[in-house]
Amino acid sequence: MLDIENLGKSYGSLEVLKDINLRVHAGDVVAIIGPSGSGKSTLLKCINFLENYDQGAVRFDGQLVGYAERDGKRAPASERSVNQLRSQMGMVFQNFNLFPHMTILENVIEGPTQVLRVPRDEAVRHAETLLARVGLAEKRDVKPTRLSGGQQQRAAIARALAMKPRLMLFDEPTSALDPELVGEVLSAMRQLAQEGMTMVIVTHEMGFARDVANRVVFMEGGYIVEEGPPDQVFSSPSNARTREFLSRVL
Ligand code: ATP
Ligand code: MG
Repeated sequence: MLDIENLGKSYGSLEVLKDINLRVHAGDVVAIIGPSGSGKSTLLKCINFLENYDQGAVRFDGQLVGYAERDGKRAPASERSVNQLRSQMGMVFQNFNLFPHMTILENVIEGPTQVLRVPRDEAVRHAETLLARVGLAEKRDVKPTRLSGGQQQRAAIARALAMKPRLMLFDEPTSALDPELVGEVLSAMRQLAQEGMTMVIVTHEMGFARDVANRVVFMEGGYIVEEGPPDQVFSSPSNARTREFLSRVL
């Protein structure tokens, strides 16, 4: 589904992604771990082209993300084609970016009605199902400020799912939460994984990565240093840097 080849990205003279190769198949749950500044967020942003990249390719179902290729040359893709690809990927950030002036229901139906042109009553029905799934059926008519951080993050997940994405990207969805609220968000994500959603998750929750992911990717200094099934990466990492990182966080 997602095919990343020799991806490179710099901010000015700072190379933040170096020769990244990663394949994500339908149904995969890939956890990305690694120290601060290693390029995890930048990698997620290159996947849905919130950031452009300088080298290599990100392909979604074979289609190059962000660029149009003609005769071996690259030009920026049309906004329409970027948006078309992006609408198939849901993204949830650390700081639940809900629209503050809208109710939870309005937040969830915004994308489907405005972008996908789904009729409002149909969008509302789908939103109610999604809100029930993340345990927020009763909160549909309140504004985000009335919710706890954990509830806001579950609403953000429902909002992303409302676009019927084929791939979900999560960037440390629980790291801004009070510890007692982390579990409810992880369990919503776990349920999504069990339903077969393809997910790429940047996380510091090692227990969750171990339980839910089928692959773990360790990044450091802009490189993928190690990648493998969770049992292997956590129990017998082959790379000294991975071992060192895990000894600090586990
Ligand atoms: P964290 O765990 O702290 O979220 P990360 O692994 O997500 O870290 P990134 O946010 O991808 O790391 O950043 C990778 C590097 O790129 C860092 O050195 C960071 O300072 C730099 N960087 C990120 N965004 C920008 C930007 N917009 N302009 C310049 N440099 C940036
Ligand atoms: Mg980050």
